[in-house]
Amino acid sequence: MSDAADRDRDPEFAFELRVCRWAERAWHPDGPRPAFVARQLGTRQRRWDTVVVEVDPEAFAARRALSTDGFDSDLLRVVRHAPAEWAWYRDAIPEPDFPWRHVVPAVHRAAGLGLVEKRRGSRNRVEYRRTAPYPDWVERVVAIENKPNLDASAARALADQLDHDVSRALADEVWVATEVTGRRVEPALLEDLPVEVGILGVDGDSAEVLWHPSSLSPDPDDARRRLVLAERAYDRGWRNYVDTMRPDCRQFELDRRGRALVPRCAAKDCYQSQRECAHSCPSFEPEPPAWRMNGWPIEGGPGKGVRRILEARRERERDRAERGSENA
Ligand code: SF4
Repeated sequence: MSDAADRDRDPEFAFELRVCRWAERAWHPDGPRPAFVARQLGTRQRRWDTVVVEVDPEAFAARRALSTDGFDSDLLRVVRHAPAEWAWYRDAIPEPDFPWRHVVPAVHRAAGLGLVEKRRGSRNRVEYRRTAPYPDWVERVVAIENKPNLDASAARALADQLDHDVSRALADEVWVATEVTGRRVEPALLEDLPVEVGILGVDGDSAEVLWHPSSLSPDPDDARRRLVLAERAYDRGWRNYVDTMRPDCRQFELDRRGRALVPRCAAKDCYQSQRECAHSCPSFEPEPPAWRMNGWPIEGGPGKGVRRILEARRERERDRAERGSENA
């Protein structure tokens, strides 16, 4: 491949951002469902490129009313099991697999955030009660693996991971997203992937279902794990990639790829990866101070401006999920 052609090709990172943006606008492939999207999330054993969390709009609104931040697992345990009436925390929360004393700081933290009320009860015990119930807001969790070039060797490398996803069934559906080639039979369909895994063909701003996934049956014992994942997805979304990149570099641009804004490096004339756009980048040039004080042009924006644009977009999409499918 020539240098020029190589530059025009979306690297995996830019492709991943496009898939996130598409999923945010269009989920579900068979009809809109209120959802929000996150990236690079999972468990210790498995990390997914894109995670779609389908929500019950009304319950999601109640969840947002509790906090605009996601809860870590300690906070979630306390808030989710907070009783309506005053109770000793050990009577309200299922026994954890670590000492009870480690739960107390989370009760104090939840009270400090206004999520619960706390007091000292009889025998100086820490008691607490909720300010509002924790809603049942997560409908389904969908995991997407992104492989723009799903050739035979990429499919072989993926097969074991996808087998694990299907048998583990932490998500309700598993997909692979790949760039369509325009050939009569898409090569992805010829690869040896688990039949339960859906295949999504991405073409610019749109995507089509090449192969429908099977619905998996998550184990009810995994309910907490799925909720922890959903809370992290809610907290992080998918635009937080700038946190590990250098939007404060004057060469950092947000380039419009269809409906997605994708980081581009003006110095290298390419869609840079997160790894190269880091503190170690030898081409880094600090943005001029004036950029931080004035507006923030979309093209070639300063670090703060980039963050504000992406943050505003995240909030807008949360609003959309809350409004529900009729507006999606
Ligand atoms: S020059 Fe380096 S730090 Fe600056 S935008 Fe390009 S890759 Fe990122």
